[in-house]
Amino acid sequence: MRKDYENHFAECAFCRARQKFHRGLDVSLAILTSLSALFFLFALSVLRHIKPLEHVAFNILGLDISSTYTMLVSAGIAGLCFSVLALALVLTATPAPSYLSGLAVERAKLIEERIEERLPAAIKSLRLR
Ligand SMILES: [Zn+2]
Repeated sequence: MRKDYENHFAECAFCRARQKFHRGLDVSLAILTSLSALFFLFALSVLRHIKPLEHVAFNILGLDISSTYTMLVSAGIAGLCFSVLALALVLTATPAPSYLSGLAVERAKLIEERIEERLPAAIKSLRLR
């Protein structure tokens, strides 16, 4: 089955383009969800240091400080949980991880080849033996 797919992708430019597009989507989803988790972490960490928030909650919304904090912190924690969950879903349900590690392996091979090219001839002949 897998071999058939690979053969078809090798022949058909249309499907190859589609595959590339979907891999791109997978990767951007993974990036977006991890960014969102990071932003929620950031929001949680700065929540305690914002004075204007206290002013808005106290004077405009008429809330007391501690319940506002409780509300914001639980919203932050819920958002963080949701983004981590979404990231886990993206990483398990899409081929993004294997695609990315494949890219990394390719990159490493390319670098290795480039280093090999620049090695002096003396070292090359040593390595070939
Ligand atoms: Zn096709």
